Amino acid sequence: MRAIHIKMLPGSDLKKVRIHWMILDEQGPIETPRGEVLCTRGSIVMGGVKGRIACQPGRQSVLPEVRSDGIHLLLRSENINAVNCPECLASAEAKAHFQRQKEQGAQATKREASEAT
Ligand SMILES: [Zn+2]
Repeated sequence: MRAIHIKMLPGSDLKKVRIHWMILDEQGPIETPRGEVLCTRGSIVMGGVKGRIACQPGRQSVLPEVRSDGIHLLLRSENINAVNCPECLASAEAKAHFQRQKEQGAQATKREASEAT
């Protein structure tokens, strides 16, 4: 039996798993396989996308890594709203994303206000 390692958030008594942000990017170093991929724990279905992990821009793969102490998983989402990794959320891309969201929200509010009058 092999241990499965999943990173947790630091300083949390709730023991939340860490979910990284995978930024979709045609120039990214990661290219996920497309379709069903067999790994040591069974099969997983992957989307065949290119991108990078916000807090680990040089990382080449998101597939489970088999090391001497067990299997290491990298949990990730392409949807930033599901991300809780503090380093990913502090990245320049995340800050820019949230700023754009904030500006779009402000524009939508202005539009609604002008339509209501
Ligand atoms: Zn991260």
